[in-house]
Amino acid sequence: MLRSIVWFRRDLSLEDNLAWADATQNSDEVVPLFVLDERLLAAAGRARQDALFGALGALDRDLHACGGALTVVRGDPAVEVARLARESEATSVYWNADVTRYAQARDRAVEQALGELHIDVHARWSTLVHPPGAVTTRAGTVPKVFTRFYERWTELESPPHACTGAAAVRADSRDELPQASGPRPPAETLEAFVDGVDSYHDTRDDLALDATSRLSAHLHFGAISPRVVIRAVGRHTKGRRAFVRQLAWRDWYAHLFWERPDLVDCAMQEVFDAIEWRNDPHEIERWKSGSTGVPIVDAAMRHLAASGWMPNRARMIVASFLVKDLLVDWRIGERHFRHLLADGDVPQNAGNWQWVAGTGPDAAPYFRVLNPVTQAQRFDPDGDYVRRWVPELAGIPGGAVHEPWELPPLELAAGGVVLGDTYPFPAVDHRNARIRALDAYAAARHTRGT
Ligand code: FAD
Repeated sequence: MLRSIVWFRRDLSLEDNLAWADATQNSDEVVPLFVLDERLLAAAGRARQDALFGALGALDRDLHACGGALTVVRGDPAVEVARLARESEATSVYWNADVTRYAQARDRAVEQALGELHIDVHARWSTLVHPPGAVTTRAGTVPKVFTRFYERWTELESPPHACTGAAAVRADSRDELPQASGPRPPAETLEAFVDGVDSYHDTRDDLALDATSRLSAHLHFGAISPRVVIRAVGRHTKGRRAFVRQLAWRDWYAHLFWERPDLVDCAMQEVFDAIEWRNDPHEIERWKSGSTGVPIVDAAMRHLAASGWMPNRARMIVASFLVKDLLVDWRIGERHFRHLLADGDVPQNAGNWQWVAGTGPDAAPYFRVLNPVTQAQRFDPDGDYVRRWVPELAGIPGGAVHEPWELPPLELAAGGVVLGDTYPFPAVDHRNARIRALDAYAAARHTRGT
C-alpha cells in the first residue's frame, strides 16, 4: 500500500490543488495533515485566525465527504510532519510551496527531517496563477516593473485544472480543530461578486460602495484557487480584465519575494534604508487608534481595527499618511497591518507598503505623496465612508466632513463637533509634512550618493 501525507498550509481547498491532486493520483491512501504552528498563530490577529479556522473547518467537511478527516496537530512542523510520516508509514509527503522567508526556512527544515527518514518530498505550486520562475525577463529574473510582468503573465497559458485522484482518504486521531465561523464561504463570495464585476474598473476605489470581491483572505489561505477565480470571472469585459489584473499584482509580489524573501525587512531600493524616520510614538499611536484628526485616515484605521479589513484605496491613503506625512518607517505600518488584516500576507503587505513608500519596485516614485483630503474628496465624495466609521463627525453633511477644520464655528456647532474636544485637530499640516518627507528622502539619496 502506497501511503502519502498531504501537508496543507495555505492551500486549504481540495479543488485545483496540485499537491492534493498529485498525492491522490499517485498513492493508494492519503493522510491530510495540518500543523498548528504557534509561531504563525501568535503573529496573526483575531480576524486572520478566524479566517484560518473557518477555512480549516470547511476543508475538514470536504474531507469527510471523501470518507476521511483532517489530522490536526500542534507543534513544530519539522518535528510533527516527520513524526506523523514515520507513525503512519508514509513513503511521501506532498505540499504546495510558499514564498516567505519563514516558509522557505521551515520547508527546508522539514525536508531535511524527512530526508533522514528516506521519505520523499513533492513540493508543488498551487496558490498562484503562475508559479515563480514562469514569468521572467530574458536574464531569468522577475521583471521589476509591473507592466512588464503583466504583459508576460497574460501571454502564458493557464496551467490545467488539477483533479483529485482515486486514493482513499484517512481519518486519523487528532488535536481539536479550533472552531470559528470565518468569513462568508469563498464560492458564495465569488458568486455574489461576479454579478457586479463588469463595473469593477469604475467602482473598485469607491470607499462607501464596498464593491470589490472580498476574496483576499480566501486567496491568502488558498480556500479558493486564483485560477478557479479567473475561470469563473473570465476576461471578456473591461471590468473583468481590470479584476484579473489585480490577481497579476498578487502573483508579482509573490514572485518578487520568492526571489528576495528579505524584502519584508529591506527596502528594495537600498538607498531608502538610510531615511531618518521620525517614528514619534505618540503619532504612531494616534494613527493606529484612528485619532489623527484627518477623517479619512481615522475612518479607515477604525474600519481595520473593527473588522480586520480595509479597502485597497484606503490602505494606500493611510499607508502614505503614516510614511510620508508622519515620516514613520514603513515596516512599523506593515507589521501593524499584517497583525490585524484577515488577509495579512507577507509579500502582498510588505510589497504594497514598499510600493506606497516609494522604496519598492516599479514606477511608484518616492516623491509621489498622496494628499489625504483630495483622495477623500475623490473616493468618498459624499463623506459616507467617513461618517460610517467616525460617528463623532456624523452630524457634518456631505463632503465637508473631510476637512472639519475648514468649517465656520457655527457649522461645526450645528454638526455637534468641537475641534480639539469631540474630535482632534489634525496631527500634521499636509503641505509642511510633504516638504519634510521629500527632504528626508532626498537626504537619504544624498547620503548614499545617488
Ligand atoms: P479585489 O479588488 O476584489 O481584488 C481581487 C484580488 O486581487 C484581491 O483579493 C487580491 O488577492 C488581489 N489584489 C488586489 N489588489 C492588490 C494589490 N494592490 N496588490 C496585490 N494583490 C492585490 N492584500 C492582501 O491580500 N494582503 C495584504 O496583507 C495586503 N496588504 C496591503 C497593504 C497596503 C498598504 C496596500 C496598499 C494594499 C495591500 N493589499 C493586501 C492589497 C489589496 O489592498 C487587497 O488585496 C484588497 O484590498 C483585498 O480586497 P478584495 O479581495 O476585495 O480585492
